[in-house]
Amino acid sequence: MEFRYFKGPKEDMSQLIIGTHICSICNKESNECFSLEYTLTDKFSQEETADKVGCSDCLKKGEFEFWHDTEYGMLDENGLKKVYKHNMANPPSVDNKILVELRRTPQIVTWQQELWLTHCNDFMVYKGTWTPEDFNKYSKNSDGRQLFLEMTDDEWNHLWDESLEEGEVELKEWYATYYVFECSHCGKLRGNWDCD
Ligand SMILES: [Zn+2]
Ligand SMILES: [Zn+2]
Repeated sequence: MEFRYFKGPKEDMSQLIIGTHICSICNKESNECFSLEYTLTDKFSQEETADKVGCSDCLKKGEFEFWHDTEYGMLDENGLKKVYKHNMANPPSVDNKILVELRRTPQIVTWQQELWLTHCNDFMVYKGTWTPEDFNKYSKNSDGRQLFLEMTDDEWNHLWDESLEEGEVELKEWYATYYVFECSHCGKLRGNWDCD
C-alpha cells in the first residue's frame, strides 16, 4: 500500500482494520481494508457503511475516498471549503488531480482532528509522529528545540518550553502527539500537534 501523501507508519492510518477481510466493494480478500464509515462513497448509503469495509485497491480507484481537513480548506467530494478558522478564506487554486490524490489517501489517526499541512502549492507528505528526542536526532546541530521552532507555526510553538518540568533542561518527552510533514518539492519540514 503506497501513498504519495502518506509515508507514515501503517498504525497511523485512521480506520485501517487489522487482519484479513473481504472488501465489501470488490469482494476480494485483502489485509489492507478500511472501515467505510464516514468515508465518501456512493456504493452504500451512510447507514449501510457502518459495517462495510473497503480495500486499498478500491481506495486507489476512488470507489471510496476520505475527506481531509487541510490548511487550504476542508476537502470533500466537492473540493475545498472554508469551515474552520485554520482554513484559508481564499485557497490557491489547486490542481484537481492533487485533490483527488489526497482524497484517496487515508486519514491520520489523531486525538482531535487531523490538519493536513501544505507547502509549495501542494499538500505535504505525512511522515509520522515525533517526540522531543526525534527532533534532537534529526537536527543537524543536535538542537532539537531550534528545529522544533523552525518547523512549528507560532500558535503551536509554545509546546516545547511548556513541556519542560521545573528545573529540567533537556526535554525528553511531552504529553502531546506531534505530526510531521515534509514538502515533496523543497524538502521543508513542518509539523503540528493536537491543540486543546
Ligand atoms: Zn476492494
Ligand atoms: Zn515546499
